[in-house]
Amino acid sequence: MRIQAPRGTRDLLPDELRIWHVVEERARELFRLHGYAEIRTPLLEATELFVRGIGEGTDLVSKEMYTFTDRGGRSLTLRPEGTASVVRAYLEHRLESGPQPVKVYYLGPMFRYERPQAGRYRQFHQLGAEVLGTQDPAADAETILIPYDLYQSLGLQGLDLRLNSIGCPNCRPRYREALLDYLRPRVERLCPSHQRNWEANPLRVLDCKSEACRAATAEAPETTAFLCEVCADHFAAVRRYLERLQVPYRVDSRLVRGLDYYTKTVFEITAESLGAQDAVAGGGRYDGLVQELGGPSVPAVGFASGLDRVILTLQRQGTDLGQARPPEVFVAAAGQGVQEAARILAFRLRRAGIAAATEYGDRSLKAQMKVAGRTGAQWVVVVGEAEWAQGQVVLREMATGAQQIVDAGQLIATLTRSREAATDGAPRR
Ligand SMILES: [Zn+2]
Ligand SMILES: [Zn+2]
Repeated sequence: MRIQAPRGTRDLLPDELRIWHVVEERARELFRLHGYAEIRTPLLEATELFVRGIGEGTDLVSKEMYTFTDRGGRSLTLRPEGTASVVRAYLEHRLESGPQPVKVYYLGPMFRYERPQAGRYRQFHQLGAEVLGTQDPAADAETILIPYDLYQSLGLQGLDLRLNSIGCPNCRPRYREALLDYLRPRVERLCPSHQRNWEANPLRVLDCKSEACRAATAEAPETTAFLCEVCADHFAAVRRYLERLQVPYRVDSRLVRGLDYYTKTVFEITAESLGAQDAVAGGGRYDGLVQELGGPSVPAVGFASGLDRVILTLQRQGTDLGQARPPEVFVAAAGQGVQEAARILAFRLRRAGIAAATEYGDRSLKAQMKVAGRTGAQWVVVVGEAEWAQGQVVLREMATGAQQIVDAGQLIATLTRSREAATDGAPRR
């Protein structure tokens, strides 16, 4: 039997990657505009990092991690998310003693052992950013605005931004009590798993996807009614930024997000996909995480976005992003005696920044012209034995069929001039 890619993983082939590149390049540009620099952390981390950073009781840590013991007896885990690794790197390189805040973004594969389905893979790709070292609500607004603007500019339809504040260690205990009081008489209506452990972390009941938990918590107390003054002011400031930047949002008191480390702001962006709303980005503030991972008290905020889902949604919505760019020139050889000359000419064009295709095999001129037509090249350069002996080639414009004889030494200049003339008129693809 032939070996296949492991379940939940897949190959991204060139045709599909074109749209990925458009999304990634636009994201990088947006990060640059907002003053973020890229960070790359290992795909493998000590298991302890995620147990402490994400929380032992979460499904993510208890059921979904790829954890193994390496040959040296260490427990390692393929990273299931990016934030814990960024915080670890921030502490390991003592970035907290440099200028603050530190603004970084990342882009790369993450791993979770989940049931694969459309747009959900065990190796999936996340784009995310973290701002470490400031409590300014402008940083919260920034991490919401970047994914929102990114997906808006890519034409993702039906974007819906939900926002909430889940408070801080000062005010959350009061909310927790109120939620426990609310849940106590309703325990039997919860999903089987939350009937058992609703008390340990009642906020997770709000986050539960089961119908039972959703129905039972429909009237649950709202986090925003319990915020302390600091949290309430912070939330109001974040909302003001969004309003003044005309980013439409709704406050959703059920939005608490599954991970333990969030404080104050949490948000989620969904997009319309096949009539349903699919989450495409989410994040929030995590003022306690740096300390949790053994560092000083450093406030931080960030977001992450699943690119597989974003790209699937863009494809379902029929976007035409990421069209292939044909070569500008196809170099054809009319005769075996000029084959090498034609290929060398193609190399020279490429060195001059002109995308040039040519044939590898030993095919007739007619066959080569067919290939040239298929590539969509605007020009064909025919290297013929008689012209080549004079240091000349035939330059043919594919659209019109017009031909001219050009000195081989002038070819690059001629092509560059015609390219510039074309760009003056209409934008190049
Ligand atoms: Zn508070
Ligand atoms: Zn539940």
